[in-house]
Amino acid sequence: MDIAFLGAAGTVTGSKYLVTDGSTRVLVDCGLFQGYKALRERNWAPFPVDPSSIDAVVLTHAHLDHSGYLPRLVKEGYSGPVYATPPTVDLAGILLPDSGHLQEEDAEYANKKGFSKHRPALPLYTEQDAYDSLASLAAVDFHRPFTIGDLTVEFIPAGHILGAAMIRITGDRTVVFSGDVGRPNDPIMYPPEGGLGPDVLVCESTYGNRVHEHDDPLDILEGVVSKTANRGGVVLIPAFAVGRSQAIIYLLHRLVADGRIPALPIYLNSPMAVRTTDLYLRYHRYHRLDAGDVRAIERDVRLVQSVEESKSLNHLDHPAVIVSASGMLTGGRVLHHLASYGPDPRSTLLFVGYQAGGTRGARILSGESEVKVHGSWVPIRCDVAQIHGLSAHADANELLDWLGSFSRSPEMTYITHGEPDASEALRVRVQHELGWKVRVPLLGDQVSLVKANAP
Ligand SMILES: [Zn+2]
Repeated sequence: MDIAFLGAAGTVTGSKYLVTDGSTRVLVDCGLFQGYKALRERNWAPFPVDPSSIDAVVLTHAHLDHSGYLPRLVKEGYSGPVYATPPTVDLAGILLPDSGHLQEEDAEYANKKGFSKHRPALPLYTEQDAYDSLASLAAVDFHRPFTIGDLTVEFIPAGHILGAAMIRITGDRTVVFSGDVGRPNDPIMYPPEGGLGPDVLVCESTYGNRVHEHDDPLDILEGVVSKTANRGGVVLIPAFAVGRSQAIIYLLHRLVADGRIPALPIYLNSPMAVRTTDLYLRYHRYHRLDAGDVRAIERDVRLVQSVEESKSLNHLDHPAVIVSASGMLTGGRVLHHLASYGPDPRSTLLFVGYQAGGTRGARILSGESEVKVHGSWVPIRCDVAQIHGLSAHADANELLDWLGSFSRSPEMTYITHGEPDASEALRVRVQHELGWKVRVPLLGDQVSLVKANAP
């Protein structure tokens, strides 16, 4: 069995691993590169192998850096099945068409304003391409092993977001791909399953060099919302429509219910929001919230769907919280709100998720005082705050705890899905604290999973 690292090596985005076993080819994750321009340009490069030669795609979860290249792969000739857990299939059904729509909008906008170097600017794929690719999706539940050629594949709960899985592939060797590893005490998701014992592990390292603060996210959120409301400003929270949005709204609901913050309007600005929240009801077994919690979220939040409503949020004359995608300020409606409230010293831009290098989110957090939005510079004069404790990713200590639960040491662990510093820091810790053999592969590396005692 071989693994080729086609993405999420030296970066957190573009997750793609090609597993080859004899004549069987399985692509684990099919993610978009995001962030630095040089990375995003990789989305346009020809796929390293002929897509039609791949037998199956398996997805760890629906986040676009794990699933967002799928419509392009299908457009380029892939015609096999795409296996994912039932919630991931439904989430991809919402997120991929939206991604295609955003890419069309961005290309259209670039053409109108003439700021793209490409003439005409083209979308990587369209909304229709995304809908076309959904026909390939096939739902398989957690712990229901299925076969692809001579390989057996199984989804294992990873926490992180609704439907997120690790993937165990068994042939003559057993390899586990961690996907994104969730947290032991997430307010919404259950902990990642422990006690695994693969021959080879491919492990993410998003927070490989960091430990989340232990301050209670509720306290920080209370402070940020109260201070901003007192100034008459708006709290703008860039968040993906799935996962952190529901967590943040649930926490706001608790703060309002306990009288800790005023009952100010909370807007969830996403045309996908209604359908996404419905999925939390349909898949109640897959997360910690009960139906009452989910209904409270629905009751307390104002779901914004139309473009007109979205535009009206740019001129609010009262304190409010706006949660809007994308989570790293790479696109979507949140950019229009950033242009309105970024220059407003009364308002606060609150980050609740990981900001990949090169994204507007990472630039603002590193202290840049202006960012380019749709071709114009926007000064950032609002407060900038961050809640690490709401991350959907295990931090370095939590990753080590999870690895420490394994029933045996893998013969080899490949550390991926991290900025270079984070992957290297985790490599050193896993080697020293667990005594495991560890490597950080480079993009394009191919490794052979030979038996340890093989000649
Ligand atoms: Zn993720």
